[in-house]
Amino acid sequence: MTPPDDATLQAILDRIALEAREDPDKGRVADYIPELAAIDPDQFAIAVARPGHPTLIAGDAATPFSIQSVSKVFTLAIALGLRGDRLWERVGREPSGQAFDSVILLELERGRPRNPFINAGAIVTTDAVLSGTHEPRGALAAILSFVRDAAGDEKIHINDSVAASEIATGHRNFALAHYLLSHGNLENPPHETLGTYFHQCAIEMTCRQLANAGLFLTGCDDAPGLVSPGRIRRINALMMTCGHYDGSGDYAYRVGLPGKSGVGGGILTIVPDKASVAVWAPGLNRYGNSKLGTEAMQRLSDLTGWSVFGTAPD
Ligand code: GLN
Repeated sequence: MTPPDDATLQAILDRIALEAREDPDKGRVADYIPELAAIDPDQFAIAVARPGHPTLIAGDAATPFSIQSVSKVFTLAIALGLRGDRLWERVGREPSGQAFDSVILLELERGRPRNPFINAGAIVTTDAVLSGTHEPRGALAAILSFVRDAAGDEKIHINDSVAASEIATGHRNFALAHYLLSHGNLENPPHETLGTYFHQCAIEMTCRQLANAGLFLTGCDDAPGLVSPGRIRRINALMMTCGHYDGSGDYAYRVGLPGKSGVGGGILTIVPDKASVAVWAPGLNRYGNSKLGTEAMQRLSDLTGWSVFGTAPD
């Protein structure tokens, strides 16, 4: 398949946004975080960023949303920069096949989380970033500045009400953090690591900003060089195998690209050497991944031939 030109790609995005709007089944918004329960599920946005091209958008691409677990990609990149491969002594690299907030898996594996994208693993990577900066304020400044540099946008901010909402209700995450501590796999007090983690999850971005922020993972020559090419390969591999929790195999089958989802309904997907794509639709499927976002990415992959497994549609 020849790569789509800007006009063809824009027409594809417009078509995908229209189809999403017409789909009566929007999924269910994450209501376990009180601030997210009130989000209107009738919103949809998609944005495609490529070096040397204008970022193309369709739908509500200027509306900020809570990136939630998409933030785990950025903290993983920072933690690997701080700790290098020693990070893997504390967290594994295998798909979990369990819900993102599973407690039982952590107990079975004696406090070493299966991968850095389930909550337990992300709490460990955030803890590593916190140890490198000594206090939550410094860790958050480092995370925010990484994300702003990646997106080329100083306006990206944290929504403090969303973070406060999770601090007040995130009992499972507190359980995970204390369990990690009991196994000697937390270096900072649980409330400090979790305070940092909840605020990082509460970063808000528009689809346009998120697509731009993912460019450093494409490996394109003129994308921001925030991490080494070798590390880009590894982060993409983890996104492909673990980025959608127990729905990661399904996402690989349907979309065939490395992606990371969040319960705010956002998904960041990387087309290696080509593009960074952000999609947002707040309603989730049974795995806690955006329902319409996943379907939109499947359409985009089919219509553009963007997949690491080949270009032919069904
Ligand atoms: N902040 C959310 C949590 O910890 C992130 C989960 C997600 O986006 N899957 O529960």
